[in-house]
Amino acid sequence: MSSTAVPTGREQRILGIIETARAKRPKFRDERITMAHGAGGKATSTLIEGLLVPAFESESLNALGDAGSVTVGAHELAMTTDTFVVKPIRFPGGSIGELAVNGTVNDLAVSGARPLALTLSLILEEGLPATELRAEVEAIATAAREAGVEIIAGDTKVVERGYADQMYICTTGIGERDPRARTATDALRPGDRIIVSGSIGEHGTAIMLARGELGLDAEIESDTCSLWPAVDALLEEAGDGLRCMRDATRGGVASVLNELARASTVAMVVREAAIPVAPAVMGASELLGIDPMYVANEGKLVAFVAPESADAALAALRSVGGCEAAVEIGEVRTEPPGMVLVETAFGGRRVMDQLVGDPLPRIC
Ligand code: MG
Repeated sequence: MSSTAVPTGREQRILGIIETARAKRPKFRDERITMAHGAGGKATSTLIEGLLVPAFESESLNALGDAGSVTVGAHELAMTTDTFVVKPIRFPGGSIGELAVNGTVNDLAVSGARPLALTLSLILEEGLPATELRAEVEAIATAAREAGVEIIAGDTKVVERGYADQMYICTTGIGERDPRARTATDALRPGDRIIVSGSIGEHGTAIMLARGELGLDAEIESDTCSLWPAVDALLEEAGDGLRCMRDATRGGVASVLNELARASTVAMVVREAAIPVAPAVMGASELLGIDPMYVANEGKLVAFVAPESADAALAALRSVGGCEAAVEIGEVRTEPPGMVLVETAFGGRRVMDQLVGDPLPRIC
């Protein structure tokens, strides 16, 4: 069926059922925490929207953005926090220390805030070799320098052997809202273009390969990097046409699309053939039985842009190192609200739902 064809009666009914379920605020009813609660998909959003957000009654939390806002005098600040538990701590293309800086920097950046400073909390396992710790401290310092942020406070805790896995890192970041940014999670309009800043699925695949569980020997490196240069270029060139940005971390691009389709009560249609995926990532995904759209990235963003600003946004992104392969993958539609549809290479159409379960645990 082509994108313009009218859905069949059966298709319409199924879409209607899913749509009704989507519109309801999720309730957190699980008896115990499972790995799925940390995967960034359906269970994570149930935990956040069904337990955490209602408990704290914060307007900023309600917006479900990547960072919250605090106004101090005339300054609007953005604040975010993230904990890193990736296994193994070093992998092709990066390490836990680099992720801990870039992950928090990127949540500020895609919220339209220039990253300024970070705090750093280390949870270390008794017996961790000092050489490993030194290497991560060095990685943190280098990544912070490259991203233009200062580490201004920190904390260190040690737990007994076996009560943590080598090291966990928590970073909290603060940034200043850029005056050019007009972005919001509910700002998407039908007709808006969906742009990704480069090829997807590399970080999650690199981690899985580094664990050696696939017995596969492919050259895939994590894409971890600061997205501020990409955001800066978009803010400069796409202006008010830039509706919203998200970094496509846990749960991948598919999760970003689903979250924002719900937040803006719009539909999205993505052209499968337009999605940039490296052949090695595609091969590994096929072996794992997962769609690269659900695989984590640590240096890719999704931008939603008004149609008249799409060309400028693409040109701006492509001028930034690491974003040369930025491309439009689809657009925002009206119906059915809250849903993401994929047009397959064969001309069919399917629903790209929220991630269920955790196919790739502890990837960040
Ligand atoms: Mg994010």
